[in-house]
Amino acid sequence: MDFKLLLDGALVDGAALLEVINPATASLLAMAPRADSAQVDMAVAAARRASFGWARLSYAERGALLMRLADALDARREEFAHLLTQEQGKPLADAAGELGGAAATLRWCAAQELKPTVLRETDAELIIDQHYPLGVVLAICPWNYPMAILTSKVGPALITGNVVIAKPAPTTPLTALLFGELVADILPAGVFQTIVDNNDLGDLLSSHPGVDFVSFTGSTATGKKVLGSTTETIKRFSLELGGNDAALILPDADPETAAPKIFAAATKNAGQICLAVKRVYAPRQMVDQVCDIFGRLADATVVGDGLSQSTTMGPVQNRAQYEKLIALLEESRAEGTIVAGGEIPELPGYFIRPTVVRDLSDEARLVREEQFGPLLPVLAYDDLEEAIERINATEYGLGGSVWTADPKMGVEVAARIASGTVWVNRHLGLAPDIPFGGAKQSGLGRQQGIRGLEEFTQGRIISVART
Ligand code: NAD
Repeated sequence: MDFKLLLDGALVDGAALLEVINPATASLLAMAPRADSAQVDMAVAAARRASFGWARLSYAERGALLMRLADALDARREEFAHLLTQEQGKPLADAAGELGGAAATLRWCAAQELKPTVLRETDAELIIDQHYPLGVVLAICPWNYPMAILTSKVGPALITGNVVIAKPAPTTPLTALLFGELVADILPAGVFQTIVDNNDLGDLLSSHPGVDFVSFTGSTATGKKVLGSTTETIKRFSLELGGNDAALILPDADPETAAPKIFAAATKNAGQICLAVKRVYAPRQMVDQVCDIFGRLADATVVGDGLSQSTTMGPVQNRAQYEKLIALLEESRAEGTIVAGGEIPELPGYFIRPTVVRDLSDEARLVREEQFGPLLPVLAYDDLEEAIERINATEYGLGGSVWTADPKMGVEVAARIASGTVWVNRHLGLAPDIPFGGAKQSGLGRQQGIRGLEEFTQGRIISVART
């Protein structure tokens, strides 16, 4: 397949080429066009030209075009899903699910409108609070959910009247490029463009004076660089960063009900989810039973190429992440007890079996750091206060969950966890109408929901004297 950048309405070659590897085979999947700094300048100039006309359209006009885009994505869902599995690794059914979610996000956004609100209206004055678009939005995406994360930026940015330059992760650029092909037939030139790099143009883009807003999703370390690059022009930005979500099982919970749901939330997408369960805290007397259930589920997991019907977990997305996880696994083997998994399958791709580890200290890297992979530590606690304190003793604050037979108690405990989202008796599951975002070093700002839409706008007060 021949992939092109979408720049100023035209599908064009990059200045160079970039190898894209299929993580299930560790072999070449396709060559992607790779942009250079001149193409970045072209994209920003085209975006600025397009911005004026797009902002002048009504919400209804922009919404109609977003609906067409969602329909076009649905019409080619199978093709997109195959490509997504091949570039990202996830099982085909999950890839199709991601694409269904991406189209649903575009549709939800297409139906929204940020209406002005009247703050005061008297004989003497009229004060209106309104929103206007920021202009050129840079959408920087990671490699775990290439299409879901892209559309969660594109939908809100476009409906509120901004134009978008998308920069996918260098290891998963293909679905974003294919999305550019759909856009080429539907949106005016410059309203959505794609820049692919090899981790070398992000800084140039996010510090570019022609970019007005940076919507960044990725690691906390890169997020800090983005934060630095926005200071010169006091650029608006939102940061969706890493997490180290804890699942807290209360003593009254039924492990047979809770543990399978927790395991699913720790291993979906091979654990490569910002909001995945990354540590489990269980009452000491329940740890054996929880580990038994996790062990059963880990053993039953079919790890393989996501294109195979029987696969329930695909490979880790790229070699760097695979090597990081192997190092963490070996460290955890030395410091704790492996309950299940722990083997590296003898397959050519980046496969790691789901691995459950107990008896680690809170200082172990697998507990303190974000693993972003299918390695799950189970930690014992004796006292709820102590457990909450240990859960909150992290620089992260993205999500978390509480598991209990008493939902009221669950809400009380959830309210003590310092995170942007805390679930009770479930974990994961985001919806376009529900805002989410990180506390502490897990991020700044909100995505999704009306609050997420507002982030893509500038507030303006119109204040009128009537006398
Ligand atoms: P990453 O930070 O390595 O890369 C993310 C993106 O930033 C890529 O497109 C990359 O090319 C780009 N980039 C690299 N250097 C840059 C720079 N100096 N300036 C601007 N952009 C630059 O992250 P990753 O490894 O692709 O993704 C995994 C991380 O993403 C995990 O930490 C995960 O928790 C996080 N994540 C967070 C969310 C969320 O919503 N909070 C969602 C998904 C993933």
